[in-house]
Parts: sequence; C-alpha cells; structure tokens
Amino acid sequence: MYDVLIVGCGVVGAATAYALSRYQLKIAVLEKENDVAMGATRANSAIIHAGFDPEEGTLMAKLNVRGCLMAEELCRKLDVPYRKNGSLVLSFSEDEDKTLEKLYRRGISNGVPDLRILESEELHELEPNLSPTARRALYAPSAGIVSPWDYALAMAETAVRNGAELFLETEVHAIEKTETAWRVHTNRKSFETAYVINCAGVHSGQIHEMVAAPAFRIIPCKGQYFLLDKSEGTLCTRTLFQCPSKVGKGVLVSPTVHGNLIVGPDAVDIENCEDTSTTAAQLAFVRKTAEKTMTKINYRNTIRNFAGVRSNSDRKDFIIFFGEEKFLDVAGIKSPGLTAAPAIGEYVVKLLENDGLVLRKKEDYTDSRKVIRVKELSSSEKNDLIKKDPSYGRVVCRCETVTEGEIVAAAHGPIPAKTVDGVKRRCNAGMGRCQGGFCGPRVVDILAREQNRQKEEILKDKEGSFILLSKL
Ligand SMILES: Cc1cc2nc3c(=O)[nH]c(=O)nc-3n(C[C@H](O)[C@H](O)[C@H](O)COP(=O)(O)OP(=O)(O)OC[C@H]3O[C@@H](n4cnc5c(N)ncnc54)[C@H](O)[C@@H]3O)c2cc1C
Repeated sequence: MYDVLIVGCGVVGAATAYALSRYQLKIAVLEKENDVAMGATRANSAIIHAGFDPEEGTLMAKLNVRGCLMAEELCRKLDVPYRKNGSLVLSFSEDEDKTLEKLYRRGISNGVPDLRILESEELHELEPNLSPTARRALYAPSAGIVSPWDYALAMAETAVRNGAELFLETEVHAIEKTETAWRVHTNRKSFETAYVINCAGVHSGQIHEMVAAPAFRIIPCKGQYFLLDKSEGTLCTRTLFQCPSKVGKGVLVSPTVHGNLIVGPDAVDIENCEDTSTTAAQLAFVRKTAEKTMTKINYRNTIRNFAGVRSNSDRKDFIIFFGEEKFLDVAGIKSPGLTAAPAIGEYVVKLLENDGLVLRKKEDYTDSRKVIRVKELSSSEKNDLIKKDPSYGRVVCRCETVTEGEIVAAAHGPIPAKTVDGVKRRCNAGMGRCQGGFCGPRVVDILAREQNRQKEEILKDKEGSFILLSKL
C-alpha cells in the first residue's frame, strides 16, 4: 500500500515526487511512456518565465514567481543546465507601449524583481541584432533558460534515489475507491494507495473523470518550432518576446541553454492531444511572425522542427484542487508550468499536509546530483577521468563531443535511458548538427551491449519507433 501515487511523470509529476520524497512516505509514480518527460515537458520553449504574464492574484502568478526564484538554486544542486539570461518583451507601436506598461504594473504586483522598461537606445545596445523597428521593451532580468527534460529527469532521479518507485510503461486505465483507499488499475498491475495525485498533463481531464464528474475541460493547443544550429545561437543573449495576445505569449526568439537558437511557437487548438506533427504552413507562419523581431536568422541552419501540446483548459488558472476525497488534481498546467513546477511540488506537499497526511522528514535525504559532462572538464580533469575509465576518452557524438563513458552512464543511471532519444536527453549525444546521423548506430550498439538487449529491441523514441527490424 502506497501513501501517495502520482499519475504522470512530466516536470509536474517529477517535481511533486521530488518534494514528497524528502518525507518518510511510500511513493509510486506511474508513467505510461518508456521514459520521464515525454509529454509537454520535452517540447516547449524552455523558458523560466519571470512572472509578469499571469493575472494578479491567481495561483499561476504566485507559483510562476516562486518557481522562477527557485530555479537557479535547484539547477545548481541537481546539476541541470540553466542560465539566467533575462527576457525582453518588445514593443513596435504606441499601442504596444501601453501593453508594456500594463505588464510592468502586473509584474510589480506579482512580485517580479528588477523589472524595468528600456528605451530604444539601451535596448538596441543590449541586443544589436534586433529589428530596428523595436522601439521599447520590458526587461525582466530574473527570467532564464533551462534544459526542460533535464529539469524533470533531475527531480525524478532524486526522488528515485530517495526511495520513490517509478513505474514506466505503466498506463492508468481505471481508478476505483475501496473501503479505505484507492485502487489504481494499469496495463501491468493494480496499485493500492491512500492518495492519488493527477499530474497527467493533457490527459488530466480523463484521469479526473475516472473518479468524479467532469469539472474542467482540457483544450490541447499545439505549438511548432524551429531549432537552429549553434551558428545562430549568438544572435541574441536574452529571450525576445513580442507583446502577448489572447492566444498566449506569442512567437519568441531565444538562445537555448545548449547554445542553439529556438524560434516559435504558434498556438493552434487541436483534437488529438498526442498530435506533435509539424506542418509547412504553420512553420511558415512562425517564421514570418519572428521576422518582426529579427530578420537576420538564417533558417537554412535549422537542425530540427518539433511541436509540443499545451494543456490549456477552460479555466484561466492552474487547476489544483481535491477533485475527490484524497484525490488531488494538478491539471491544466499550461505555460508557465515548466517554471512553476518546483513551486507546484511544494504547494502539493502543503495541501496534503493540511489534509492530514503526516509528514516526517527523512534523516538520510540526498538533495544533490552530479552529471559528468566531459566537454565541460578542464584538460587535467579529463586526463584523470580517462585514466580511471578509458571509455571517457572515446568520443562517440562528434557534434556535441559526447563520450562512450557518458552514454554508458546514461544507460545505468537511477532512471536508465532505454532508447536512443533517452540517451540524447541525458547526455546530448545526437543533439548536434547531424542530429544523430553519425552517432545513432553507435548509441544502439552501446545500449544493447550495456543493457544486454537485442539491437532490434532498441527504439528511437516512443513505442513502435523501431530502428532495426531484423538481421539480413
Ligand atoms: C509549445 C509549448 C511551449 C511552452 N513553453 C513553456 C515555457 O517556455 N516555459 C514554461 O514555464 N512552460 C512552458 N510550457 C508549459 C510546460 O511545458 C508545461 O506546463 C509542463 O511541461 C507541464 O508538465 P506536466 O508534467 O503537467 O505535463 P506533461 O509533461 O505532459 O506530463 C504528463 C505526463 O503524464 C503521462 N500520462 C498521461 N496519462 C497517463 C496515464 N493514463 N497513465 C500514466 N501516465 C500518464 C504522460 O505520458 C506525460 O508524461 C510550454 C508548453 C508548450 C506545449
């Protein structure tokens, strides 16, 4: 019998497990995919938003600002790539100047630190590649960029290290109330638990309706992107937004924490919440819209297009409430959910404590994590490491300089990578210009060898994404 069972291991489920794992609780995390962070968490803009967008007084505003403040220290402790690069919302007209003033006032009231409005001269000095038509900007120095899947993985790994049990490829099909607890039925087995926490992203409405009458509606909304090579990654230093509209924060241009440039997203409501296809028409729209911000981007250096699906809902706020006794919905976690996630984790702990869950701190709780990234080491550190383990001297991914030792570590981590993309998310092999064209087959070999599996079993990504079918 578990004390708490979390459905879904995106960044919100991971942050919730992380926050709860510091207490003496038996925790289960169920994830339907073959890895953590396979939903919205792996396909978003990767911005740690400062917190001037959400309406004053909302839970979203509170958790956004708190999450933004937590990010730097959390990323330091858990060794997650993060940079506090600041963000700019640009104005191109007198009307938009008024929007900047409104966002500024809202940001101050939400508690966003160090906000200021920049005039044209300072703006263009800070970002010389900006379109000359940009006339003013709202500057938020507390905003940042992060590696979103690393953020979720780091919190999930730390929870697992501290005793939480993660069940991958375990899809919740039904939830039933017993006399004393919940019984959660999955494709693998059933779980008994005192509390259920619904962190199922775009599927959170379905999970809620397994135990209660419909209370909210999830409206999946797709956003498409260009990811450009590092040759474009220095075109700007800060994240560049245009003024928000009723469909959201709009198309941004931003460096990524890995040194690339990201451009997007659009916002189109869709029926099929698993549809992450990209289309020429919407990508053309993204590109055209981004031209207002910057004309110098060379889209021939695009290394990937991708799409993510937001869990928008019929509410203006995050939906965090007890949908049933001892059943907590953490639903409709749309943007800025990545930013807010660690604060959502803290908030869930408070809600459970107020509901009577007894929380006793663990004495042997580990709250740190270290990842070896060979290319970040000094020459002498590299030499020492290679002397101890020569596999750190064999470069497999030449674009990103990732060694065999790092891939082996990804295959044996607290949440081992099972797929080629799982390796990519853990150590960057395949993230570069060739997108795994050269190192992909070597990664298959290493995973098969290290995990004692047939090469044909190694998938690229989700279920069904076979690379090798049979031997010839
Ligand atoms: C285009 C786009 C841009 C965004 N940009 C930003 C940004 O820059 N900054 C920011 O702060 N936020 C951003 N967001 C929002 C952010 O990505 C999300 O709020 C966040 O990732 C939500 O995390 P989650 O864990 O709730 O959902 P998810 O990551 O979708 O995780 C839900 C998990 O539940 C699992 N699941 C579902 N059903 C079941 C089931 N029946 N059984 C078991 N498991 C199940 C899924 O497989 C999934 O892994 C953006 C989102 C999108 C789509």
